[in-house]
Amino acid sequence: MTTLIIGGGWSGLAAAVTLVQQGHPVHLIESAKQLGGRARNVSWHGHVIDNGQHLMIGAYQHMLDMMALVGISAEDAFDRYTIDITLYDTFFPPLILSAKNWLPWPFSLAWNLIASAGLTGFYQVVKLHSHSHKLLSGDDMSVSDWLLLTKQSERLIKQLWVPLCLATLNTPITEASAHRLATVLQESLGRRKSAADSLIPRMPLGDLFPIAAANFIKQHGGKISLQTRAKKLLIEDNKVQGIICQDGHKIIASNLIVATSPSHCADLLSPYLTINKPIEYPISTVYLQYTTTISLPSPMIGMTGTISQWVFDRSAQSPGQLAVVISAPGEHEKLTKSELVSLVSKELHHMLPYLPEQASDSLVIREKRATFACTVNIEQERPLSETTISGLWLAGDFVANGYPATLEGAVRNGQHCAKLLLTK
Ligand SMILES: Cc1cc2nc3c(=O)[nH]c(=O)nc-3n(C[C@H](O)[C@H](O)[C@H](O)COP(=O)(O)OP(=O)(O)OC[C@H]3O[C@@H](n4cnc5c(N)ncnc54)[C@H](O)[C@@H]3O)c2cc1C
Repeated sequence: MTTLIIGGGWSGLAAAVTLVQQGHPVHLIESAKQLGGRARNVSWHGHVIDNGQHLMIGAYQHMLDMMALVGISAEDAFDRYTIDITLYDTFFPPLILSAKNWLPWPFSLAWNLIASAGLTGFYQVVKLHSHSHKLLSGDDMSVSDWLLLTKQSERLIKQLWVPLCLATLNTPITEASAHRLATVLQESLGRRKSAADSLIPRMPLGDLFPIAAANFIKQHGGKISLQTRAKKLLIEDNKVQGIICQDGHKIIASNLIVATSPSHCADLLSPYLTINKPIEYPISTVYLQYTTTISLPSPMIGMTGTISQWVFDRSAQSPGQLAVVISAPGEHEKLTKSELVSLVSKELHHMLPYLPEQASDSLVIREKRATFACTVNIEQERPLSETTISGLWLAGDFVANGYPATLEGAVRNGQHCAKLLLTK
């Protein structure tokens, strides 16, 4: 019988692709007008851009395999760069996280780190990294407590750990889970060199996976309904019977995958199961359009001591376009969009004086619930894919997998959930 999937984000789509590939019928419903959820296409002056700048890394193997399955080649889809990031600060000299030199990995990274942070800075980073195994075998703590325990300097905290923690966990260091940061560092910097590669999309997010996934699902006999919102789950005698949609119509199903964001999932399930609603934190992206000759010295740079956190060169998609990313809650939320554009442009001009003081065009996209907050002990709050209700399954980036909210986690959970369902 057809499996019903609620939610057409990357996780629900990955679940549907996995099921139809095995010849299992699916019907995926999505409340929005388009697929992609928190990683989707939006339109700006007739051009397609992203709802927020995303960065993928070489360690996202499930995501890359899933994209390949639906016919998207990573070579066409991404510009792939060896890690090469300069973090500019308002007070300290630039800090360089780069593996670009003749030495083999990880010595290449170490060499550039020593050159910009000195031997002392390098030893502090090694100390934190080698402590991560011990940390993961004990109780979780906040990232700021972990930084204190491993005696990180004021400079490294400000210029390296704060921005890395915001970029990967979208959570301030005082609340963020040290376990989750340690896992991310191990997966990205601790393994093969290519795991740390930056993958910067050359095409809009919707074209990277959602559109190709939808074609794959339909070609394999699956059905997709947009603008169809699940209002209520129908569960009797602890067994899934189907759902009632917002417009009142009923869809009968004995297997149901809920692949929505954690808060929507908790609301839908609340009459039957308690799913802890995590705090959800925002990410703002400020797109700045300059003349087409403008670009950054490298694909992305970090900024600290400023409201702007990460700046991406989007020349490959739109010449002269930069995207400035501001993660987590903060003072920037109090500014109007035009105040934010003006401040961010000035900060960029101050850091890189060749950039004009104001861009010729701009767009601010504030995603208020971009990710779940990756707080201390969050792993204990995350549900599993299999529930105690017969026929009810969970996907989405919040389902337990040891990682923060990422596209890799979303795809992995969708695929895992579908595989589990097929074994029952
Ligand atoms: C601005 C921004 C920047 C980000 N940057 C990165 C990054 O650089 N790298 C990275 O890996 N990740 C990043 N993320 C996180 C990543 O986008 C998410 O982890 C991922 O997209 C979550 O996918 P999902 O399928 O689990 O959930 P969602 O994308 O939230 O999909 C759930 C879908 O369910 C639908 N839905 C909800 N309720 C119902 C209902 N009742 N009926 C029918 N449909 C429903 C929603 O409309 C939505 O389309 C970023 C997120 C944002 C917003």
